[in-house]
Amino acid sequence: MNLTDLTAAELGKKIQEREVTAVEAARDALARIRERDRDLNCFITVDEEAVIRRAEQVQKEIERGELTGPLAGVPVAVKDNICTKGLRTTCASKILYNFVPPYSAEAVERLEQAGAVILGKTNMDEFAMGSTTETSAFGPARNPWNRDHVPGGSSGGSCGAVAAGECACALGSDTGGSIRQPSSFCGVTGLKPTYGTVSRYGLIAYGSSLDQIGPIARDVTDCALLLEILASQDPKDSTSLRREETRFAQALKTDVKGMKIGIPRDYFGEGLNGEVGKAILNGAEVLRDQGALVEEFDLSLVDYAIPAYYVIASAEASSNLARFDGVKYGFRAEAYEGLHQMYKKTRSQGFGSEVKRRIMLGSFVLSSGYYDAYYLKALRTKALIRQAFDRAFSKYDVILGPAAPATAPRLGESLKDPLQMYLGDIYTVSANLAGLPGICLPCGRDGKGLPIGLQLLGDCFREDRILQAAYAFEQAGERSGAYV
Ligand code: GLN
Repeated sequence: MNLTDLTAAELGKKIQEREVTAVEAARDALARIRERDRDLNCFITVDEEAVIRRAEQVQKEIERGELTGPLAGVPVAVKDNICTKGLRTTCASKILYNFVPPYSAEAVERLEQAGAVILGKTNMDEFAMGSTTETSAFGPARNPWNRDHVPGGSSGGSCGAVAAGECACALGSDTGGSIRQPSSFCGVTGLKPTYGTVSRYGLIAYGSSLDQIGPIARDVTDCALLLEILASQDPKDSTSLRREETRFAQALKTDVKGMKIGIPRDYFGEGLNGEVGKAILNGAEVLRDQGALVEEFDLSLVDYAIPAYYVIASAEASSNLARFDGVKYGFRAEAYEGLHQMYKKTRSQGFGSEVKRRIMLGSFVLSSGYYDAYYLKALRTKALIRQAFDRAFSKYDVILGPAAPATAPRLGESLKDPLQMYLGDIYTVSANLAGLPGICLPCGRDGKGLPIGLQLLGDCFREDRILQAAYAFEQAGERSGAYV
């Protein structure tokens, strides 16, 4: 048996009980990566020596009784847009191919304080823009269940690594679904917290008003435990919030009897794959059997979420990415004449085409002649979407639906038509626009054996409810096992 086939909580327990050491866990994870990642390409950077050194140090602290938490000694993979001090952080872009951050993200600091061993940096869509991990400058990652298919994106490397048993858990980031959609495609469990719950300090910004870091793991318990570690108010991030209650694992103790679950009728129209739709409705039945009250309702405005999201996310991206100019860090073009040409050549050569598309789109919607027509209108739409969710959550505890309209597409299928790819985010982006927490967990397979994910959305600050429903569902059905 490989130790990375255990969940993080199971592995952490064995380490606490001195059954195995943090060093053995790290060695097993590294061996798995060596064995499987040549094909899967889920990792961009792994510094094996540093991992072992850190595991040895953690093991000493465990033996001295200084680290007693549930994840002490557990190897955790980190998406490559989250800064790690001294460990290269590329955002899967040529423009940051050599960037070694002088500091760690707050989320990474918190993991390390809890005794986690950072295993390496995972592959992603360039600057988290994409839904397949194919826009990575380091080549696409592959889906462990079928290597001809994508793992989803943009946190495809993190989700693929967890599904492949290269690690028990990982960090991802979610701006418009990038934790939930690849979790769905890879058959793992991923949670996007309420906006402001996890500090964004050290997360390289895509759409700052939408971005959240969150856990990806093999079960709901691990997600709850990781979120307990990650959630904090951080003075270094002005949008981070003080949460009254962050003992998320407590929520797993309550059953779903009497819980009110709403299914948006408008999620089940044209465009949803039949097998996926059926699996989701079966999933709802599982919760109904356990005493939840399940009914359909009209959420409204569903068709407006994608255009509003792409306008806002691109606007923020175009501003956030202005800092990559060849002066301060990362790649700089080799030959140029004067400062302006240096900027132009650096950015032309350093960014990939999807990133350039977003910068152009974002600059366009923010330009003076179009600001009102596009950007302001998108902000108004965002407010209306938030209101639609407020109405829904006055009636329901949890909203249940698919995470993606279909299972993982084949490699190369999506990039041909970016607009079509954007439409695939229909079920995930509205949670980011409204700041809501969402979890995606496995709920079956399609005819080809590819995983299908069930998404549960909660009102702001109600991670407890989605965790509670997700845990009840998981207990009733399959747990997402590592592939063999
Ligand atoms: N697919 C979406 C996009 O490309 C979401 C990405 C994300 O959540 N980082 O913008």
